[in-house]
Amino acid sequence: MNLENKVIVITGASSGIGAATAKRLAKAGAKVVLTARREEQLQDLQEEIKANDGEALVVVADVTNKDDMRQVAAKAKSTFGTINGIINNAGVMPLSYIDKLKTEEWDQMVSVNINGVLNGVAAVLPTLMDNKGGHIINISSSAAHSYFPGGAVYCATKAAIKMYSEGLRKELAPKYGINVTSIEPGFTSTELTDTITDDDILDMMKDMQEMTPLQAEDIAEAIYYAMAQPQRANVNDVYVMPTEQH
Ligand code: NDP
Repeated sequence: MNLENKVIVITGASSGIGAATAKRLAKAGAKVVLTARREEQLQDLQEEIKANDGEALVVVADVTNKDDMRQVAAKAKSTFGTINGIINNAGVMPLSYIDKLKTEEWDQMVSVNINGVLNGVAAVLPTLMDNKGGHIINISSSAAHSYFPGGAVYCATKAAIKMYSEGLRKELAPKYGINVTSIEPGFTSTELTDTITDDDILDMMKDMQEMTPLQAEDIAEAIYYAMAQPQRANVNDVYVMPTEQH
């Protein structure tokens, strides 16, 4: 799609991959709808995008709340007239070993990483169907391809999103002309590891600091690539790993 003047909702836009993607798509001419829970970060990003002659709207929302996500879609439409795509990017990764039984963190991962994506799709889909086109991008992970220590629940949520994207594409692409892409990044330098509370995992993560990770901008570029193709060419999956990661 030519992103000029296209209206793209980005969840988890307050940091990391979401913020980098908002800047990349705004640079390509998209009108970006920035959503997450932290309003100040979203407003700073909006200012930065506007200072570079881009257009951005801030709507504070929790992806686990269906009403919040309906509000995001409603405000996007009342401000910009329509919606042409969504990047379902919000996610959390409080890794822990299963025998620690951190069940509240398991629930949080399922709520944000799976239900949050379903809620994002449900909020924008009526508009994409009316438009007979658009693009849904879901941020899965290299964790959908292989388990890593402490990642049993996180990997399960990301594998779910990869398969959900496949189902979305098969149901929506032929019937409505809606493109669907699963993005599967390897280790990327962001705030994602800040929510880890398991000391054994935090010790293990120290070893990873010797590896050169991906930057959020690398994934933003992959998202831009998937979206910028002609409508006839659906990029199903983009799997990007740090060169040094096994
Ligand atoms: P960040 O922690 O920087 O970003 C996560 C974003 O999700 C934040 O903007 C946060 O915003 C938002 N978020 C979390 N919970 C909610 C919620 N309940 N409602 C709305 N927004 C929420 O990490 P990344 O940029 O790395 O993560 C982005 C995506 O990329 C995630 O889905 C992650 O799983 C995935 N990913 C990341 C990899 C990595 O190595 N970093 C590798 C593979 C995939 P706020 O707190 O303001 O609500």
